[in-house]
Amino acid sequence: MRRPSARRGAGKREAEEAEAEAEAEPGAETKRQTTGGAGPRKAGSASSPDTRAGEEKQRLLACIPGSRTPDWPGSLGLRSRSRGRLCSASDEGWPFGRRLQQPDQTGHHDREFHVRPCGQTQAGQGLQEVYRPPQVFRHDRGCHPGREEPRWLLAPVHSEVYQESLQGILNFCANNYLGLSSHPEVIQAGLQALEEFGAGLSSVRFICGTQSIHKNLEAKIARFHQREDAILYPSCFDANAGLFEGLLTPEDAVLSDELNHASIIDGIRLCKAHKYRYRHLDMADLEAKLQEAQKHRLRLVATDGAFSMDGDIAPLQEICRLASRYGALVFVDECHATGFLGPTGRGTDELLGVMDQVTIINSTLGKALGGASGGYTTGPGPLVSLLRQRARPYLFSNSLPPAVVGCASKALDLLMESNTIVQSMAAKTQRFRSKMEAAGFTISGASHPICPVMLGDARLASRMADDMLKRGIFVIGFSYPVVPKGKARIRVQISAVHSEEDIDCCVEAFVEVGRLHGALP
Ligand code: PLP
Repeated sequence: MRRPSARRGAGKREAEEAEAEAEAEPGAETKRQTTGGAGPRKAGSASSPDTRAGEEKQRLLACIPGSRTPDWPGSLGLRSRSRGRLCSASDEGWPFGRRLQQPDQTGHHDREFHVRPCGQTQAGQGLQEVYRPPQVFRHDRGCHPGREEPRWLLAPVHSEVYQESLQGILNFCANNYLGLSSHPEVIQAGLQALEEFGAGLSSVRFICGTQSIHKNLEAKIARFHQREDAILYPSCFDANAGLFEGLLTPEDAVLSDELNHASIIDGIRLCKAHKYRYRHLDMADLEAKLQEAQKHRLRLVATDGAFSMDGDIAPLQEICRLASRYGALVFVDECHATGFLGPTGRGTDELLGVMDQVTIINSTLGKALGGASGGYTTGPGPLVSLLRQRARPYLFSNSLPPAVVGCASKALDLLMESNTIVQSMAAKTQRFRSKMEAAGFTISGASHPICPVMLGDARLASRMADDMLKRGIFVIGFSYPVVPKGKARIRVQISAVHSEEDIDCCVEAFVEVGRLHGALP
């Protein structure tokens, strides 16, 4: 039920009523009219291109109808912690009936947010010793490649899992880049949140689905990305479904990389803005499309930060330069970058030195940040406020469960305390890439823990992946339609919890299997 179209069907009547009310919300319309920025961009201004671009960006940002400070009820109901004051439906601009006012944050929250220190890292302990997964797992197998169903595990997604025969196999196909899904402090924080805040909220955010931990996590996400505010969603798929429809009108335009993730594509489909698709990473094509899009009110360039099939990275410096020249905002999906790209793991924008130029970031809690689920948008405060009023997956889908919030929050704490884990993962990525290339394989992308071993032929990729499993390495072959025809590959993903020995084992297995199948001489 994550697909926007399905969601639309599910609560259609309520959704439309609420949307109509939200549209009628007086503050937003007035703001839009008073920004003076709703008309098309005027050509031929006398100011310099740089000044013009700066002014244009301000104007575009001002086009986001500002709204009030978001409302939230604090920790509500389930554990008798409600401190909010119920307000009437007539409270200023609130379209959804009664709400709770933000409670006084002093004291009360300190007590609620307190997370006991647990599983402290001991001095001198290496990463592996600190949270190497326990050695006994159950594992079950589904069907084989060419299968209708994926293999499935009865164990946590660690670097090491076991198959039925109890022969150890190493997992090289999870998005668990930092190994935080098995970090004892992350698990402990999840357990604590479960205990203190309950199993779930039985509600969407704006009714009674917001606890102090949700607000705390949103603030932490914004701080991590150095943005003004953040809004949580059940997933990043939902964040992408909510953003474009919430932000863009038929007067606007969105320019999207042709290889953007399916959720961006679906999100864009849901909005009524004009759509331009530029060739993958092709800046000349983006520029041409930006020129064409000058007639629209607001232009938004949308790209993945790191592309999951190839491990390649969007040229954000160039994208931001073009966006500035042509008065566009930049949106980046950082699912395969948050937590580990850039010197302190902030993402692609940090890696490429454009943190102050990317306006909107969407990302997931379901990969590097603990691997459970959840997504978010972080960016300008007024945008986040607008999304709280308009984004359908936020308004009409359940709140994130406390355990998930607790895990993600601890994952961010760990990353903000130290970049040891990030560096460990980067070093192992480098080790794998250089050893594989030295052995004669072609690895796509650069310096990203997604390391696609390019093989070309679909059957070869599938058979090699099967034989890798027989040698204790769990990897998956990708072929058309997931990747273009003739570009089949085995996608290897490196994690901080892999040891150097694990990496070497994987390379050795590739060399053996590659020779067996004629992929290597
Ligand atoms: N965006 C990108 C680039 C992704 O790779 C994914 C997940 O695969 C998503 C969005 C969706 O994230 P989530 O699993 O949180 O819905």
